[in-house]
Amino acid sequence: MKPYDIETAASERVEAAVDEIRDDVVDFAADLVRVRSVLNEEQPAQERVRDQLEALDLEVEEIRVDEVPGIEDHDEYVERDLSSEDRPNLLATREGAGNGPSLLFNGHVDVVPEGDREAWSFDPFAGTVEDRRLLGRGASDMKGGVAAMIFALEALDRAGIELLGDLSLNTVIEEEYGGSGGTLASVLGGVDADAVVIPEPTGFDTWIANDGVSYFRVSVEGKSAHAAETDAGVNAISKLLPIYHALEDLHGERKTTVHDELFEEWHEHTVSLNLGTIQGGDWVSSVPDEAHLEARISHAPEETREDLRETVERTVERAAEGDPWLEEYPPEIEWFGWRGRSAKIDPDEPIVRTVEDVASEALGRESHAKGFPGGIDSRFFVNENGTPAVCFGPGAYNIHGTDEYLPVAELEELTLALALTAMSWCGYRVTPDES
Ligand SMILES: [Zn+2]
Repeated sequence: MKPYDIETAASERVEAAVDEIRDDVVDFAADLVRVRSVLNEEQPAQERVRDQLEALDLEVEEIRVDEVPGIEDHDEYVERDLSSEDRPNLLATREGAGNGPSLLFNGHVDVVPEGDREAWSFDPFAGTVEDRRLLGRGASDMKGGVAAMIFALEALDRAGIELLGDLSLNTVIEEEYGGSGGTLASVLGGVDADAVVIPEPTGFDTWIANDGVSYFRVSVEGKSAHAAETDAGVNAISKLLPIYHALEDLHGERKTTVHDELFEEWHEHTVSLNLGTIQGGDWVSSVPDEAHLEARISHAPEETREDLRETVERTVERAAEGDPWLEEYPPEIEWFGWRGRSAKIDPDEPIVRTVEDVASEALGRESHAKGFPGGIDSRFFVNENGTPAVCFGPGAYNIHGTDEYLPVAELEELTLALALTAMSWCGYRVTPDES
């Protein structure tokens, strides 16, 4: 199969159809932006998606995290105090008219909170369009993408195009919370296809790899004393500082020794160690008797989390060596919270080539394969099922920050690109005109 294999007449029909529904795509994306679908409040957004899927004559299936047996034992499962009753993931499939390969579009409907509303120059949840920009939280990450993947199918229907392989649409919750109740639950619940495309805001590049992420905390004990008798105590902050600096050095060393060209296409380094918090002491007139630091460390797809843990633990141990107090009261290391696995697929995977060819043939955009230095939901398809999964979507405009927006033109481009990707991947036939 050639990556891009679409007759001009057929692609023109789809282009015309996307043109006809351009306002509907924007209206739907705007409607989704109006729902403040932060963690645990995704349900109204999924309701709107469901209505839209049903309008395409699709049957909508629900997948809830609490109905996936054994998911709590998965190493990426995040402990939760969330209801799953009203928070389904959705799956709908248009069956192919032949035996073509199947494709799945996956997108998250949850958004990160808006932060300080006063800092925005518009209402983050008004869903207005100004100067051909859809404004609001989630516009580019990734309600635009969700709208485009649904309306890509609408465009194909209008254009009288039948796909030969199945096309599934999977909208999920909790991506911003690590994905365990969303895409992980979907994948472990049986959602799969021959390939997956996720329209996250990639700037029309393809993200085909991601770093793994771990959080850890180092705690050091001291001995408290009155400030007037400072030397009678042991200052825990002072004991923590050499460890802090050793970890800083570890970051410096890893960023020059761990390389993956997919990441360095784009970022200065492949991996990082971020020292995020430091705390110590609770009273200015007392010698602090405990101190902690918390850090986020990433690992490249070629590394294992186990090796990385060993490296961190050895670094901390070495920093404590030779200090009689720390030898008696060794620092404690705790790996806590979210753990994201790394993943990587081959840049020559046919789905990657297909998406890149669509971008260049239909949009005139040069698409590059890149690695993302954090968690993306594609890893679940890759790691659990060995299914090639790629992120490909519009630009990222102030995502996770203030004044997020998405140019309407990119939403239209993406809708067209996803429709053509489905045709190219699944194969298609043009239904005869009934008139
Ligand atoms: Zn996203």
